[in-house]
Amino acid sequence: MIHSVLIIDDSQQERNEIKAVLEKTGLFDAFYEAPDGLKGFKSMLSNTPDLIVCDLIMPDFDGFKFLRLKRARQDYDNIPVLIVTGRDDMNDKIRGLEEGAQDYVLKPFNPLELVARVKAHLRIKLLQDELKQVNEKLETLSNTDPLTELFNRRYFFNILEREFERSKRYNRALSLLMADIDYFKSVNDNCGHLIGDKVLTVVARVLKTDLRKIDSCARYGGEEFVLLLPETDLTGAASVGNRYLTEIREQDLSDICTKIKTVTISIGIVCLPDDSIKTADVFLKYADDALYAAKRAGRNRVVVHNAK
Ligand code: GH3
Ligand code: MG
Ligand code: MG
Repeated sequence: MIHSVLIIDDSQQERNEIKAVLEKTGLFDAFYEAPDGLKGFKSMLSNTPDLIVCDLIMPDFDGFKFLRLKRARQDYDNIPVLIVTGRDDMNDKIRGLEEGAQDYVLKPFNPLELVARVKAHLRIKLLQDELKQVNEKLETLSNTDPLTELFNRRYFFNILEREFERSKRYNRALSLLMADIDYFKSVNDNCGHLIGDKVLTVVARVLKTDLRKIDSCARYGGEEFVLLLPETDLTGAASVGNRYLTEIREQDLSDICTKIKTVTISIGIVCLPDDSIKTADVFLKYADDALYAAKRAGRNRVVVHNAK
């Protein structure tokens, strides 16, 4: 892991001294410098350092202004700022801390104290980063179906609620496709459950590929999948559905299971705007109805809800 520090000070000599002390610690691999608060702020945005040492009194753009700018950018909240300030100005120290600095070091600084404070704040910063990463990983895990790595059903409901509301409020197109593998029971019966699982991952991969960034695909049930396509009308949804139908039918499964070379899917589609659909539950139910109509009509096909 590369760690970096940004030193903001109008005096080149001060910057050199701070840098020399910090270099000796071996804590940082990269050093960035800026002669005033504004240049320091720009350097922070482009370099995202792990820690900032900032002088308070600088011509034009001082440390207080820097702290205020930084505070407006919450995504940089995790970067600790150590202010360097003159011995007598207690008010400045307090003001600096109130403006969002984590700590201060007195000028002329004692190198041992500077290093000790930098170490303490860097340690907290890195622990917080780690915690954030673990939390993000946990969140992804809790939203993901482990077998197919698609969104799981629970998370899909969140997306559906949000997109449904958005579509209703702004009268935007929204399409829901519900897909189910045909005669999947016979895949399990003929090849075993483990092979069945592999077939599920192949189907999921095909569904995931080519999906636009704003589209979502989830595993809705055992061998049922849902696709939610914002800003997509019936024509678009039907062409996506038919494309998937063909792509899945053409997947060669013979190296997964010698007995079964291919599978097909059936798809039910429902689209907004539609004044008769008042809730997300009804929206889902209509997709399900269309899917079952596709099954009854012989499978391996797309059926649109309420199609005239
Ligand atoms: P249809 O064409 O009407 O959809 O027939 P089908 O056999 O696909 O439908 P049915 O609902 O009767 O059976 C679905 C099967 O999917 C039954 C179940 O054992 C299997 N299944 C559900 N979840 C999983 C899973 O996670 N892994 C495997 N291998 N099979 C699963
Ligand atoms: Mg099925
Ligand atoms: Mg099913």
